[in-house]
Amino acid sequence: GTNCKIMDGKTLSTNLISQAKTLKDGKKVPCLAVILAGENPASHVYVKNKIKIFKEAGFDSQSYIISSDEISEEKIISLILSLNKDKNVDGILVQLPLPKTINTEKILNAISPHKDVDGFLAHSIGTLATGEFTNAIACTPFGILAMLVSYGIEISGKNSVVVGRSNIVGKPMSLLLLSSDATVTMAHSKTKDLKQICKNADILIAAAGQPELIDKSYIKENAVIIDVGIHRKENGKLCGDVHSNVKEIAYSLSPVPGGVGPMTIAMLMLNTALAAWAKD
Ligand code: NDP
Repeated sequence: GTNCKIMDGKTLSTNLISQAKTLKDGKKVPCLAVILAGENPASHVYVKNKIKIFKEAGFDSQSYIISSDEISEEKIISLILSLNKDKNVDGILVQLPLPKTINTEKILNAISPHKDVDGFLAHSIGTLATGEFTNAIACTPFGILAMLVSYGIEISGKNSVVVGRSNIVGKPMSLLLLSSDATVTMAHSKTKDLKQICKNADILIAAAGQPELIDKSYIKENAVIIDVGIHRKENGKLCGDVHSNVKEIAYSLSPVPGGVGPMTIAMLMLNTALAAWAKD
């Protein structure tokens, strides 16, 4: 309602990253290998940012940049196979999206399950679905869960609606909420009466990739709203899948920017650290 609490993912992630520095005392310095194939400018920015933050936390990273004219499935897979064997490398991340000529599933599934830090492997998604939690959990949903827990939001028994069913956000998010004992509804582009379904949500996760799709008319009084979408408006400003007028009604909002985005990178560090220290 009128006192809508804004969840500060930026501060939370900064705290997590500085805790990572202390946690690693006396342990192996975690090392992430990043593979970047092609010239997608956004991907280049994301990779640069990941490497910068790893460096700030005293974690190691390596980057492998393959230019468009050199890309082939064989080339990427042989690089992954050599990184799988490299004892110094704890985590392997292939920056998505890959060029359309490349079979993404085939590439991802070449990564050793022990070195998957994005949680996109079929094997990792499988252990999330069975509740074994032995492999990496996708960073964006994992960061959202960490944020909900940090802000003391009760999940058990709550109606939660996840808008979007991608393999990297919506699907793993739904599985995580289910593991936390929420009652989960998955909505997508074929969903009928999205508004009515969203209005039933105590916890609403908006990951449809549609600018400001969710406004206050979709929101239940005192709901917790997590905005995952990232879009650049014509005026250059960032916005999400959620309209800012939800603040009039919601109990709490994770906004764009400053919410889920920074948490994602903190969880990448956590996954890399877990992969490194699992061997100790
Ligand atoms: P995708 O485009 O892969 O998936 C979008 C999903 O939303 C699909 O399942 C689609 O349904 C559904 N959808 C699309 N339109 C509607 C609609 N009008 N009503 C209901 N459902 C709809 O996107 P991602 O999951 O990769 O990403 C979602 C958003 O989150 C993007 O804006 C992306 O930029 C952002 N993002 C942010 C991250 C971060 O903060 N770190 C990380 C990853 C993503 P269907 O399956 O039927 O097509």
